[in-house]
Amino acid sequence: MYRLPIETHLEELATSLHLNITICTGEVTTPNEEDRPNIIREAHDSAVAGHKGMIKTYHRIREIYYWPNMMEEIRRYVKTCHD
Ligand SMILES: [Zn+2]
Repeated sequence: MYRLPIETHLEELATSLHLNITICTGEVTTPNEEDRPNIIREAHDSAVAGHKGMIKTYHRIREIYYWPNMMEEIRRYVKTCHD
């Protein structure tokens, strides 16, 4: 019997339930502490990012990176950005 990858099942399930869930299939990196402010700045301030809110910035970073307390660090950064 042919089995679809679990991701496909989850995507189908999410679609049928009208949920928007993030399935992390790629490699997620934990950046060095000194690189984290740059990563946050890039994800929030860059021309493509366009100064999005905390949640959007978080999701953008989360596609590639994970580190403990990242949500809090992003929140603090976005709060102080007045551009
Ligand atoms: Zn900003």
